[in-house]
Amino acid sequence: MDINPQYITWRRDLHQIPELAFEEFETADYLERELLRLGLSPVRLGKTGLMADIAGRASGPTVALRADMDGLPLVEDSGEPFSSRHEGVMHACGHDMHMTILLGAIEGLLARRDFPGQVRIMFQPSEERPPGGAPDLIARGVLEGVDVVLGLHVWSGFPVGTVGIRHGTMMANSDRFRIRIHGRGGHGSEPDTAKDAVLIASQIVVNLQTIVSRRVSPMEAAVVTAGTIRGGVTFNIIAEDAEVTGTVRTLNHGTQALVEEEIRVVAENTARMHGATAELEYMYGYPAVINHGPVVDAWRAAVGRDAHFIEPSPSMGGEDFAYYLKERPGAFAFLGAAPDTEVFPHHSPHFRVSEEALPIGVMLLERGARHFLQHPEQATAR
Ligand code: MN
Repeated sequence: MDINPQYITWRRDLHQIPELAFEEFETADYLERELLRLGLSPVRLGKTGLMADIAGRASGPTVALRADMDGLPLVEDSGEPFSSRHEGVMHACGHDMHMTILLGAIEGLLARRDFPGQVRIMFQPSEERPPGGAPDLIARGVLEGVDVVLGLHVWSGFPVGTVGIRHGTMMANSDRFRIRIHGRGGHGSEPDTAKDAVLIASQIVVNLQTIVSRRVSPMEAAVVTAGTIRGGVTFNIIAEDAEVTGTVRTLNHGTQALVEEEIRVVAENTARMHGATAELEYMYGYPAVINHGPVVDAWRAAVGRDAHFIEPSPSMGGEDFAYYLKERPGAFAFLGAAPDTEVFPHHSPHFRVSEEALPIGVMLLERGARHFLQHPEQATAR
């Protein structure tokens, strides 16, 4: 497929100015300029969010399209000639692609404005950092009057041309935890007089791995990852305090509640075994992304053979697009974007995607918007 050179320009411009969550100032200015140039009247929502409406020919429904805007705290090592010019920040999840795709869809919709109703454009700050930008945009009224909401995410593991979408759960509940261990400090040579918080933290990390393997049903999906372990001052002092932090991913409330409870059991009882204490702080993050079946079916039908649809397993990743789907019918799709070079995971400093995915993403959003403007009843049909 020929790629519109404008898409390449947008994508590479945006890729070079990545900014962290809620600090997307240069990015928002760039998008605002482009929206004005295309003839829209964007409104700032909060510091860096942008909203604009594309009015059709007659009154009718409203379809919202969303792109996220933020990068990640990484030093880019992708080898791309258009790498980040912001030291220590990188578009390592493809949000530069999402913004470009939304700009492309806007251009396409404006070129043929023969639809009823309007398209609500949503450029959303901070997908990467909890509490996410979505709740703030929703609180500021971004979904007012909206009938259907569509979004997508590039996926470096799927080949270009492939689109992954499924009914129901698409992405996971994404929670965080912190365990604080309180022991009794002492001399490294007199372990019998101390309660070693570093040893307790180590056993907690190991014991946590029995939750998924021995407490959660083999038919359910769950992840418990201890990401950090901190404690101690120097080599010959037994640590009084230690801390373990991590993330939990689940696909339903039952498993989520079970894992939270089991983490508490493991933390408190492992500490008790040593005469120490541990307390769990469990923080709920983004809820699961749950696609609405009728929207998935109608969107897929509207695109037809112009994309190769697959039904992937749910991703254990999290996405604050979930909040829109709690409020309105809608769906979220994975856009195949595997590079010709080696595939690196999202959030890797080597992350790359193929720009060949851009026109397919534009087609998906534009086609979806046009379809639901003509057939809003299909978003809720059974
Ligand atoms: Mn992302």
